[in-house]
Amino acid sequence: MKRAVIIGAGPAGITAGLELLKKSGEYEVIILEESRRIGGISATVSCEGNRMDLGGHRFFSKNKAVMRWWEEILPLQGKPAFDDKKLGRKVELLKGGPDPETEDRVFLKRQRVSRIYYNQRFFDYPVKMNWNTVKNLGFFTMLQAGCSYLKAVIFRREEKSLEDFYINRFGKKIYSIFFEGYTEKLWGRHPRDISPDWGAQRVKGLSVTAVIKDMLGKMLPVKNRKVETSLIENFYYPKFGPGQMWEEAAKRFLELGGRITFGCKVTGICRKEGHIEKLIFEENGETKELTADVVFSSMPVKDLVGGMNNVPDKLKNIAKGLPYRDFVTVGILTDRLKLRNETNFKTLGDIVPDCWIYVQDRHVKMGRIQIFNNWSPYMVKNPEGTIWIGLEYFCAWGDAMWQMSPERWAAFGRKELIKMGILSKDAPILLSHCEKVKKAYPAYFDTYAGMPDLKKWLNGIDNLYCIGRNGQHRYNNMDHSMLTAMEAVDCLLLGGIGKERIWNVNTEQEYHEERQDHK
Ligand SMILES: Cc1cc2nc3c(=O)[nH]c(=O)nc-3n(C[C@H](O)[C@H](O)[C@H](O)COP(=O)(O)OP(=O)(O)OC[C@H]3O[C@@H](n4cnc5c(N)ncnc54)[C@H](O)[C@@H]3O)c2cc1C
Repeated sequence: MKRAVIIGAGPAGITAGLELLKKSGEYEVIILEESRRIGGISATVSCEGNRMDLGGHRFFSKNKAVMRWWEEILPLQGKPAFDDKKLGRKVELLKGGPDPETEDRVFLKRQRVSRIYYNQRFFDYPVKMNWNTVKNLGFFTMLQAGCSYLKAVIFRREEKSLEDFYINRFGKKIYSIFFEGYTEKLWGRHPRDISPDWGAQRVKGLSVTAVIKDMLGKMLPVKNRKVETSLIENFYYPKFGPGQMWEEAAKRFLELGGRITFGCKVTGICRKEGHIEKLIFEENGETKELTADVVFSSMPVKDLVGGMNNVPDKLKNIAKGLPYRDFVTVGILTDRLKLRNETNFKTLGDIVPDCWIYVQDRHVKMGRIQIFNNWSPYMVKNPEGTIWIGLEYFCAWGDAMWQMSPERWAAFGRKELIKMGILSKDAPILLSHCEKVKKAYPAYFDTYAGMPDLKKWLNGIDNLYCIGRNGQHRYNNMDHSMLTAMEAVDCLLLGGIGKERIWNVNTEQEYHEERQDHK
């Protein structure tokens, strides 16, 4: 039997392992995982009966094969969840599907509400030039915004940076309020130093007719207008958070004969010409090695190339210079928010209905707030009496923020929540938890422009398949990471032909729709 070694037990690694065992009986499949848990960045952490998502992972894909894959692991709910039942909220149910109140293997259908919080007011996300924005910003600021937008339309900038990209679409005033500070918080760089490619992936253009229509529409008195309809969307979410999906998928992988070894950090990749012979890894302070016929790597491409022998200098430097943004998330359990629910959405305890809130204010370091009660009531031990929130902070590995202790993080997060008017001074902190995530965001600056050369060279290593988010240094979501794994398995079983397809995921239109052969 041949041996396939997979580096990393995140969504990409687990998908690769499971797909390979489902499609071929020729391989012994071993996953080497550095940490002690399944799911990578998409893991769920448990704290005294409250579960924390290391971000807030929406399960949504335009690719039907991925949706089916997820639904096969966790069947869609057939009965309402605790909060839907209690509040009488209507939710689409699958006939014969499991009851989340009595069964655990359930995929919930949730309502997505997310907004921007700026200057103690809520704005639509993504930001829109609509009546709500006008009302919240005030007449004078809007006048400035209107003039700067007109200026941007007349004097279009050549788009050399993310700053040019935003100003061309929103004008300087709106850019300075909504994008400049947030982008700097996220990436630790000013938007003028970031490539415009990033914006193209994330921001839709601004339609002036749509703006006027929206503003006129909202100024006319229409009875029972549903103010927030534009904010409603649905997404799927495992009863116990994203990690449940990957833990369930890992169980299937093990049932099919796969092996996962935790606490094994791959540090060396021994190559002879265009072929990997063995991997070196650290386990419990010991250096060990494992031969491999084929390697799927979801470890950061920077570390992969850094651990290889005989890499040409130019490529070694590209890999060495690849930048990342690291991330700290702080869970805080309280029993009240100062923030009031002024929407039409019904929630347990009448808390704000948002799953997550973007924090745009520059005078706080917080980037986003997750309200886990709204993701799944089963994430919270007492969803009626307590609110379990996750605060997100972007930082750089080893910097002052990264080094803060969990206690300092809890105090810091509380202070910022009070400053923003989200928490009152007398609100108790019933529980807190801090998680630090290395290389959470692969960034598109520094040596990133050299990625095509590095990719070409890596593709030349005949038994190596680079998959996933950091494995490809691409801003891949879970579905994209899975698709890279599916493509890689197909490519291996076709004799290694068409590696380019693995890298095309999340760059070509077809991946935003559905691939024929993954139906
Ligand atoms: C804040 C935030 C919010 C997000 N929200 C969403 C969302 O709403 N929807 C969505 O679809 N996606 C979302 N994502 C993206 C999602 O988290 C990733 O796409 C997904 O986890 C990537 O899977 P992966 O397997 O490629 O990598 P990872 O999840 O990073 O897993 C890689 C694994 O490899 C292991 N590893 C690394 N180096 C080594 C080594 N040297 N040796 C052995 N093991 C190693 C790691 O420990 C890890 O377990 C979000 C990400 C963040 C940061």
